[in-house]
Amino acid sequence: MGSDLAATPTAPDHITAPQLKVAVIGAGASGLVTARALKTEGHRVVVYEKSERLGGTWAYDPRVESDPLSLDPDREIVHSSLYRSLRTNLPRQLMGFSDYPFSTDGDPRTFPGHREVLRFINKFATEFGLVELIRFDAEVVRVERVDSRNDQWLVESRNRETSSNELFNAVVVCNGHYTIPKVADFRGREKWPGQQIHSHNYRVPDPFENQVVVVIGDGPSALDISLEISDVAKQVYLSSRSPKVKVAKLDCRDNIWQHSKIDHANENGEVVFEDGAVVHADIILHCTGFMYSFPFLKTEGIVTVEEGRVGPLYKHIFPPKLGPNLSFIAIPYMTVVTQMIDFQAKWVARVLSGKAWLPSEEEMETEVRQHYQLMDEKGTPKHYTHALQFELDYLDWLANQVGERVHETTRLFLKRYMKFAFEGGNKWRHREWEPNL
Ligand code: FAD
Repeated sequence: MGSDLAATPTAPDHITAPQLKVAVIGAGASGLVTARALKTEGHRVVVYEKSERLGGTWAYDPRVESDPLSLDPDREIVHSSLYRSLRTNLPRQLMGFSDYPFSTDGDPRTFPGHREVLRFINKFATEFGLVELIRFDAEVVRVERVDSRNDQWLVESRNRETSSNELFNAVVVCNGHYTIPKVADFRGREKWPGQQIHSHNYRVPDPFENQVVVVIGDGPSALDISLEISDVAKQVYLSSRSPKVKVAKLDCRDNIWQHSKIDHANENGEVVFEDGAVVHADIILHCTGFMYSFPFLKTEGIVTVEEGRVGPLYKHIFPPKLGPNLSFIAIPYMTVVTQMIDFQAKWVARVLSGKAWLPSEEEMETEVRQHYQLMDEKGTPKHYTHALQFELDYLDWLANQVGERVHETTRLFLKRYMKFAFEGGNKWRHREWEPNL
């Protein structure tokens, strides 16, 4: 176990800035921007990565899990949920980091394919000397504060042969939250005789040939996959819980029908929608999102995951009782993720070096409580705690903490793209959007 934890002296121009030893869990986009920010602040960084590649979500993996709904606790977990044809759901102009624009080489489309994103992340990691900070094939299995007075954190990691323990001053959790599927719940689901799959285990449309498919969901994966399988499937019924969805055939396809939520499913293969329609289907595809999961984190109940809420977290990052030495990157979604994680990472790095400050534990707790209270008063379900609804206030706030600004072009691109895709009712044709600045 390492014992080299004492804060080491820093250069004269950083007299008050301690140099800490920091563990980063995960070498996806978040772990990499965090490693860069910590390194820039002079901290010593170890990035733990359970796989043999960097890139996280963007490292396409053709394998799927043995249980297509991913409910079997003994299954081998595949991290990435990408399908082979996946293209970004945000335009490339919104895929760069705040000070490192998205690549202009390779796939030139406004919504490039996943390989282009991986290429971009690899280029970033190489350019900033981050690859050498990564311990590949090192799965973190335990993170625990072992000395609260001196803030020492134990990180236990394993690979196929060995396990090792090491002490750190701080831990930044960047393990991603698009791996553990959330499955739709409806009466009769378990006894329904057809095949059920979660989008996490969808790669290619071939197995859907000539099938009648019910797709559950309303997000980008549900729309993309419905369009893709409609080329080979007999019929696709898209079931959405959104009250705005009208029961109708899609204009752009002859075989995609929109329906309400599933009410129940019968043992004879029928799927019954709340709108009264009944279809006899072969496959139900759950495009119903993912759950936050931190199986390695031992905090004695200080940090919990409840109905899609990771909490309590001040500004979605610091648990008031354990911050700043424990922090989380990339918890919020429905935002310009790459810019958000960059600002979050820089803020964490600066708080750790004492260049940015955190309010007192009580003040942070009060703010988190107020946030939850406001949600309750508005009747907002807990699972929307980290949904930023593409509002930029949070990014503006973060940028301000690190002395940066959200670029005007980001605002403009986001506004125009949202207007085209959503207010303009073009969500099924959103990839036809072309920037016209
Ligand atoms: P990840 O990329 O998931 O990386 C986490 C890393 O942590 C992985 O490498 C994993 O192996 C590692 N890890 C996990 N647990 C451990 C452990 N215990 N020990 C060691 N290592 C561990 N975002 C966009 O901006 N635009 C898009 O178009 C877009 N499309 C998406 C499409 C799909 C289908 C999905 C699932 C997500 C999409 N996203 C998109 C969101 C995307 O996930 C984020 O942009 C970003 O890649 C998240 O990065 P991350 O580093 O937080 O997580």
